[in-house]
Amino acid sequence: GSVEIPPAVRPFLENAAASIVIGAEETTAAAGGEIPTTDPATGALLANIAAGGKADVDRAVETAHKAFAGWRRLSPAARGRVLLDVADVIDEYAEELATLETLDNGKPLTESTYLDVSLSAQIWRYFGGWTTKLGGQTLPVSPAVGEALVYTQREPLGVVGAIVPWNFPLMIASWKVAPALAAGNTAVLKPSEFTSLSALRLIEVALEAGLPPGVLNLVTGLGPEAGQALIDHPGVAKISFTGSTETGRRIVTASAGSLKKLTLELGGKSANLVFPDANIEAAVQGALNAIFLNQGQVCCAGSRLFVHRDIHDEVVAALAAEARGIQLGHGLNEDTQMGPLISARQLDRVEGFVKAGVRDGATLVCGGERPGGALAGGHFLEPTIFTDVRDEMSIGADEIFGPVLSVLKFDDEDEAVRRANSSVYGLAAGVWTNDLKRAHRVARDLEAGTVWVNMYNMIDPAAPFGGYKSSGYGRDLGEESLLGYTQTKSVWIGM
Ligand code: NAD
Repeated sequence: GSVEIPPAVRPFLENAAASIVIGAEETTAAAGGEIPTTDPATGALLANIAAGGKADVDRAVETAHKAFAGWRRLSPAARGRVLLDVADVIDEYAEELATLETLDNGKPLTESTYLDVSLSAQIWRYFGGWTTKLGGQTLPVSPAVGEALVYTQREPLGVVGAIVPWNFPLMIASWKVAPALAAGNTAVLKPSEFTSLSALRLIEVALEAGLPPGVLNLVTGLGPEAGQALIDHPGVAKISFTGSTETGRRIVTASAGSLKKLTLELGGKSANLVFPDANIEAAVQGALNAIFLNQGQVCCAGSRLFVHRDIHDEVVAALAAEARGIQLGHGLNEDTQMGPLISARQLDRVEGFVKAGVRDGATLVCGGERPGGALAGGHFLEPTIFTDVRDEMSIGADEIFGPVLSVLKFDDEDEAVRRANSSVYGLAAGVWTNDLKRAHRVARDLEAGTVWVNMYNMIDPAAPFGGYKSSGYGRDLGEESLLGYTQTKSVWIGM
């Protein structure tokens, strides 16, 4: 149950991990506290992170305010250059960043390398290209007296607070901070207390690469301490948050006083629909990826698999055969296909859902157990599939955030769409069909911020991502996220 810490990350873990970053300065938390961060595959201590609190957040916001004046006035091209340099430095340090991500989060190294770190670099590059394209409009107005020219310009908001979860730590931090900075804001980042290491390392190397001090600051710490101080701070113009619906509600309440702007990416219970005219083999592979990527700890996980009655048994048999073969292990081992859950608490929570599924009368087809042996020290759970799930069961309705697939049977398209839409959530959905008309029809009718047809879990810096209904509001990624970090000014010129 132990793994050797790779030499590439040892200096960072030994020297720098217990720091917050304010301006160019790495310091300990003002109150001096630390929080252990462990390897979820073994339980071994990786490092202690700084337990930041109100005093640290106050200083970080003040520093971000000071940096704002210079950063917003920097030419768009120069600002873009900084973001492009951060992208390059992520690629340069990819191995170290991916190793940290795997150690801290548990996900297989191939995933942290080709998904988390690679996409993070692409995101910084994409928004680095936007700084020179963020223009306004001139508008044909009809004033009551005389003539006027009206033009609009997109202005930054000020200091943005970014609060991110533990499932894609570097990537979600990147997709909040990069567009905020591109639009001319400065930022304070609060990573999850479970996975703060990659963001801390990113800031270190970004500062080395020329990110002006104070433009991006980082305060690690607990949600109710550092996070709460950030959402309560009157000097923060916007909170961009990804995490649980419960914390999202807390942020909405906290924002009422200062009327902070918000982007909220919350939970999901995404439906993945397999029609009988689909390529079944591709649908099975897609459904497995949809639920087991990142151990199912994905906000847009395809956790409700609706399968047409005619192909139901065939699809379930193929899914179960594949799921039983998934290799669990430490993310740094080459043959590992699935890692551990993030924490003992998360494992208990997910296991609670498995027990509820059995109690409610669903059929446990495979998984549901903690593997023993060499994996007993980590938070592992076997890939789990339930059939005979009814919509109203907790495993059919509630976000599990783990490797548990609920298979639901349907008879026709209208029924499938209606039941898919019956969730309070609406983050994403999948459709597997070779019928062109059906693909577009179902994509139109699904209440979800993203619909994937004959693919799943695809993310691109250019494509907006976010929720309908209780999955939140605002969008990450794409032009839309960039605009969310701006406010529009109309300038009237009397002529
Ligand atoms: P969480 O809400 O507990 O934590 C998210 C972040 O908020 C962490 O940084 C945490 O420290 C901080 N936080 C916690 N309490 C706070 C408070 N009172 N004030 C300010 N900040 C606070 O969620 P989590 O357990 O880290 O993440 C899992 C959840 O996130 C799941 O429910 C999942 O659906 C959701 N999620 C959504 C998306 C999305 O894009 N929609 C992506 C990833 C995760």
